Amino acid sequence: MLVPMPTWKPEQLGEHTWLLATGVNVGLWEGPDGAVLIDSGGDKEAGRQIRQALDEHGWTLRLIVNTHSNADHVGGNAYLQKQTGCRVAATRLESAFITDPVLEPSFLWGALPFRELRGKFLEAKPSAVALILPEAGPIPGTALEAVPLPGHFLQMIGVLTPDGVLFAGDALFGEEILDKHPVFFLYDVAAHLSSLERLESLAVRWVVPGHGRPVPEAGALIAANRAALQRTAEAVASFCSRPSGFEEVLAELCRKFAIELNASQYVLVGGTLRAYLSWLCDRGILRPSFEGGRMLWSDG
Ligand SMILES: [Zn+2]
Repeated sequence: MLVPMPTWKPEQLGEHTWLLATGVNVGLWEGPDGAVLIDSGGDKEAGRQIRQALDEHGWTLRLIVNTHSNADHVGGNAYLQKQTGCRVAATRLESAFITDPVLEPSFLWGALPFRELRGKFLEAKPSAVALILPEAGPIPGTALEAVPLPGHFLQMIGVLTPDGVLFAGDALFGEEILDKHPVFFLYDVAAHLSSLERLESLAVRWVVPGHGRPVPEAGALIAANRAALQRTAEAVASFCSRPSGFEEVLAELCRKFAIELNASQYVLVGGTLRAYLSWLCDRGILRPSFEGGRMLWSDG
């Protein structure tokens, strides 16, 4: 049987820390009693490639720490857990989605998702979470530290290694990703802005975004991420200068940022738009009204 070779090689970022660039960035920290992964890639195939890299380097997988529960970050969990018996660790809210992954498309759609939303892109295979992590502080049994970075998802964390590498999950996107996807997924705009501030305050050797290349100094990338968020917020507010329904605002947003919708993009961009509407509403910039069976957003 042909065993597919990983298309990437593990890249060393610190004395004991590696990057496995599977499409989604996966971190690996060599602990004294085995390897710890930070996220696991998007699917079984990513899990297989990670397994191959582990074998080639003689690493024994002990634990997967998930930064958050999105399918592209936990998709390799089930395969790796079955193959190696490793444990999985995540924060409390994220662990609910990892244990019962139908929650992700359900959460995005707001009801039982139709079949098209139930592929591996939004719904990973279930895996068992053995260790519920605090949002901040030491990750038990390792020398790793959890850094609270909520906003992109409910209770996302970054993971900081003792040799100074911060795996930031999707609190930060690489420049090339921002160019392609200027409207990135958010659940809580205010929390995300605070997380960007937290990232700014940390002195580390490398910051690894969930998607994109690692950067030794994250200041410029943080500023680019914040600017993209502000452009989206300003656009959403401007589309409501006359009372507009959700679908109208979504259509304007897609036109402005050249977003092509399909079922998955509809729930991801739609969820993100709802996050901005909540944030603008709570700051007194927009308000909802109801007319003729429609919910309308306006700045009046
Ligand atoms: Zn992601």
